[in-house]
Amino acid sequence: MDTLDGNAIGGLLYEAFGEEMTGFMAACAACGGVAAIAESVVYPCLPGAVVRCRSCGALLMVITHIHGVSCVDLQGVAALNVLPLPNAGQQAGWRPVKVSATGEVPGFGE
Ligand SMILES: [Zn+2]
Repeated sequence: MDTLDGNAIGGLLYEAFGEEMTGFMAACAACGGVAAIAESVVYPCLPGAVVRCRSCGALLMVITHIHGVSCVDLQGVAALNVLPLPNAGQQAGWRPVKVSATGEVPGFGE
């Protein structure tokens, strides 16, 4: 089956979350790998998509869009919007951050 990268689900995620999500970092619950959603592997299976971790192949999320309603199952995502430490640029510098209910990340953008 042909696969796409995570940019293919940008529209579906925008409909579900109301903002551009492909640049968000996601941590895989299976292997702990952290990557931008845009870098994930997408299996486009209408009426939605299956999204897998590029590192280990585990299921990250399932997105469906039926009868005008988007449903996003994030069961394989341990954390979203994981930011690099100030000395970033190195893979070992990633850390998870807590995202508030409003989507705000403490200390980011201040
Ligand atoms: Zn993984």
